[in-house]
Amino acid sequence: MIQVEGINIAVEGCFHGNFDEIFGEIIDIEKKKQIKIDLLLVCGDVQTIRNKNDMYNMACPKKYLEMGSFYKYYTGEKIAPCLTIFIGGNHEASNYLREMHFGGWVCPNVYYLGNSNVIEVKKGNTTFKLGGNSGIFNNHDFNNPKLESFPFTQDQLHSVYHIKQFDLYKLNLYEGDINIFLSHDWPLSIEKHGNINDLIRKKKHFEADILDGKFGSISHQYLLNKLQPNFWFAAHMHVKFEALVNHHSNKKTKFLALDKCLPGREFLQVFTYTKEGVDLYNQFAFNNEPIELYYDPEWLAIMKTTFNLQLIWDKMPKLFDINYAQKELKIIRWQKYQQMLQAKQQLLINYKNQRIKIPNNFQITATPYYKNDPTN
Ligand code: 5GP
Ligand code: MN
Repeated sequence: MIQVEGINIAVEGCFHGNFDEIFGEIIDIEKKKQIKIDLLLVCGDVQTIRNKNDMYNMACPKKYLEMGSFYKYYTGEKIAPCLTIFIGGNHEASNYLREMHFGGWVCPNVYYLGNSNVIEVKKGNTTFKLGGNSGIFNNHDFNNPKLESFPFTQDQLHSVYHIKQFDLYKLNLYEGDINIFLSHDWPLSIEKHGNINDLIRKKKHFEADILDGKFGSISHQYLLNKLQPNFWFAAHMHVKFEALVNHHSNKKTKFLALDKCLPGREFLQVFTYTKEGVDLYNQFAFNNEPIELYYDPEWLAIMKTTFNLQLIWDKMPKLFDINYAQKELKIIRWQKYQQMLQAKQQLLINYKNQRIKIPNNFQITATPYYKNDPTN
């Protein structure tokens, strides 16, 4: 095993409330490989359920409604073995995540990126930009003019995890380099950049969608081409799938989707991120500096530039035109978009040298579930 300076990262597919199991697996890998995992990245369906109220604010067939083991990490009875960062999928304690629309700590050591975000991850001399977009794409709710608020109606219980045009708009204003990007569902047509036959052999029920050219999310396809990150990790389809996207710019994106956490399934991948940004499987970092998170100046500039749009959510104009037949997603109001870009660039001149650490400000705000409570 070669020792390098970098960040040891584990990536997980769908979490489904299996905090004890997945964290147990992380500790096993650390023992087996004699390394320290610095960071766990999770691609959605995390189910951060604190109590019964959260459980009923999750869209999920009744037979799968389970408390999971998150509540132990919420109370501090147990602690995540490494810093964990996640995006949301389509099975979440959506009431809890909705409170942290722009990101926040769901319990000690576990950070929710928010509906969309870009942050900086730093350990010693190695840093990278991490972006993410929570939820799954749904044609109808993409331009949904109603921002979900409490208590959710049955419709909102589902629309709350559907990707919104505003998040795509903000991510689309990002011009810097993003190294790692997280999504729950896959970018449309990503299968073309990997072994399609193998994918269909493993998951026969994908074949019809693949043949129809309808497999994956059109908003993620657009973002993948726009942001061109070094790595893109996803989940949702419950299968491991690798792809390599060669962009017209000559940049490459290594795509990896992982399975859900079940015995014998491929739900975890460990690799080391180094300063050079290359993926080094089976070469690990042994430098022990603490890992730190910073707000990204460009993202802060985008948040500020777009704040007026956020305020008029209910009356927000349509920002994108989607032509499904042509598989084309285009910005409309091009002039306004250009103005926003320029306003962001101006702000960034003042922001770019600012390094603001993401504070460790987790607080318990709800009554957690107790296993031995007689009223349960
Ligand atoms: P979840 O865990 O989010 O409830 O559901 C994910 C499941 O839905 C996976 O097993 C995946 O195979 C299936 N699925 C999700 N989206 C699609 C799709 O667009 N086409 C097909 N054929 N299956 C999908
Ligand atoms: Mn899912």
